[in-house]
Amino acid sequence: MPLFSVKMRASRTAHGVNEHISGAERIVDAQCVPALAGELVTRAQRHSKGNPDFINIKVTAVPESDCLHLPALPVRTLACANAAEGLRLASGLLRELGLTAPEAVLARLPEASGLRGAMLLDAHTLERLEPDKERGVRATCMDRAGTTAATSGATGKNHYQEALVLATKVASAPNILAEICISDDPDYVTGYVASRTLGYVRILHMKEPGSPEGGRIFLYQGPREELAGTLEFIERQPVLVEDLPESPDSHPGTQDASCPVSPNVAAEPARQADKWAFLEDGLQRLTSEGLRRHIRDMASAPGPHVECEGRERLLLCSNDYLGLANDERVKARAAQALALWGTGTGGSRLTTGSLALHSELEQRLAAFKHAEAALLFNTGYMANTGVITALCGQGDVIFSDELNHASIIDGCRQSRAEIVVYRHNDMSDLEAKARLRAGRRGLIVSDAVFSMDGDIAPLPDLLRIADRYSFLSMIDEAHATGVLGATGRGAVEHFGLSSMPDITIGTLSKALGSEGGFVCGQARLIEYLKNRARSFIFSTALPAASVAAALAALDILCQEPWRVRRLQEHTAFFCHCLQAEGLNAHSSSAIVPLIVGDEKNATRVADELFARGYLLSAIRYPSVARGQARLRATLRSDHTRTDLAEAARQTALALRSSGIPR
Ligand code: PMP
Repeated sequence: MPLFSVKMRASRTAHGVNEHISGAERIVDAQCVPALAGELVTRAQRHSKGNPDFINIKVTAVPESDCLHLPALPVRTLACANAAEGLRLASGLLRELGLTAPEAVLARLPEASGLRGAMLLDAHTLERLEPDKERGVRATCMDRAGTTAATSGATGKNHYQEALVLATKVASAPNILAEICISDDPDYVTGYVASRTLGYVRILHMKEPGSPEGGRIFLYQGPREELAGTLEFIERQPVLVEDLPESPDSHPGTQDASCPVSPNVAAEPARQADKWAFLEDGLQRLTSEGLRRHIRDMASAPGPHVECEGRERLLLCSNDYLGLANDERVKARAAQALALWGTGTGGSRLTTGSLALHSELEQRLAAFKHAEAALLFNTGYMANTGVITALCGQGDVIFSDELNHASIIDGCRQSRAEIVVYRHNDMSDLEAKARLRAGRRGLIVSDAVFSMDGDIAPLPDLLRIADRYSFLSMIDEAHATGVLGATGRGAVEHFGLSSMPDITIGTLSKALGSEGGFVCGQARLIEYLKNRARSFIFSTALPAASVAAALAALDILCQEPWRVRRLQEHTAFFCHCLQAEGLNAHSSSAIVPLIVGDEKNATRVADELFARGYLLSAIRYPSVARGQARLRATLRSDHTRTDLAEAARQTALALRSSGIPR
């Protein structure tokens, strides 16, 4: 008798964005297909997430002989009082499987939360292995054995059985060590750890009630050459799972007798727990991993030296590259504008908030970047998200460097376009990926100077590839404006190019000493963005003082190009001093990274330097990948060589005294 896979996907388009509502899959006998399709449509229409406006039912023949029949994993349940305890239980199980740092695996769960599929991690290096990191790995083509339309129960989803079917299939995949799963349903706090040896271990409290955070991780333990076989099994091998037990919630007797559910936990609805307890748990986890962040208040204006926590320190982590944020001329222009125009604009640019000053700055920025026109945003972050979402949508493709700034990543995610991440600054990888998608509407986007590494995007090659495949090109010059090129005009000047990227993003908050973001490009692009960029349209216009400050800073940048030159000389000098101390330091911008690796070590060295009177950042996950923590020094044109030489010496001393190899 032939079998058929019947898949349902339901979605809705709201505010121009397509939202997934629900999905399900069954493998059934031919005669069950019509009734099952009907049940699945009903289920799609009754979903708690709302009414779909698109329901897709896909029916595919599955040869019976291709189906693998697997016995369901044995089930047991572990009770616990709260999420912290539940996560400890999960850690214990993973330790049983031979993992030495299971907490680090669990800490990756939030990262898996936005994926439609699961995150696939190397069990030991924790490297992500999914071919498509935006989508994750989706386990499909499986069902419980012997489903008929009458027994499918499709209209009432049985989370437990569906999870057990999935877990049984995944645990049987070659080289899969374990699966960890927490539901994204805010009301469902039970999660599980599953593996061939552990079975399916339900943990009654893996997150706090009310939290929409969930995620699924598959742990891979095997050679890379066999990864394709694992993916093929998870995504395509038809599996029927036999002997599924009833839900333990309806039959308490099926729970593992050695781990009885505590009556307190069972009787007390989870909703009555402290609804904010997840904050404590989350913060504690960050602390234990060296990822907790703290705000440090400055007691003086930005400058090469600042007053901070009771003493003067050399500031080596500011983006005020040209020392203009506290320049007397810049402050005077801002003060004048403040006196004339007041503190706030009281409206968005398209309503009542636009001043002649805004348009003047836009014209000046466009001229500075040799572009036809420019548009101001309230921050560089908003410029990136606003531009990307205005230009790209569902069906489009965005090629994004893997080390791009978070604001670019967020813009890509919000756009709903297909996101293709290419290897950092690897133009062969970009070209190979572009070639596969030739003919589509697309955008290639990159930082010009990478904010955590200080290296420069290979703009000539990037523009050539964009041109060859007719994709739009976009670079973010947040750390390039005022820094790269003889007159600080950025990457185009640095490379001596005659052609420009289609879209240039900048910020006023770094070398221009103010706040705000901007985009430069063709006049018709700017006109379009005024009408389509949501972060431009729906936010109050920048205050006059900030705009006037940026105008003054731009004047100074044009009149005093020696500032840019000095900054460039400082980078070369500082790297030379660090190298003389035996450290591996290189940079072509004003950002000098020193890779430490471990998060806690990086924090320890930064604290040690703080105690010695030096303020530089310990950059950790999520700003960089886990295990890639670093010290990041950023230079200013008003530093002195004496200060920089001593800073290099002290940095080397602090690294050595913390036992960090060079
Ligand atoms: N892009 C990059 C590369 C950045 O480093 C930053 C700021 N860290 C931004 C955009 C955001 O700019 P803003 O601070 O003006 O929001």
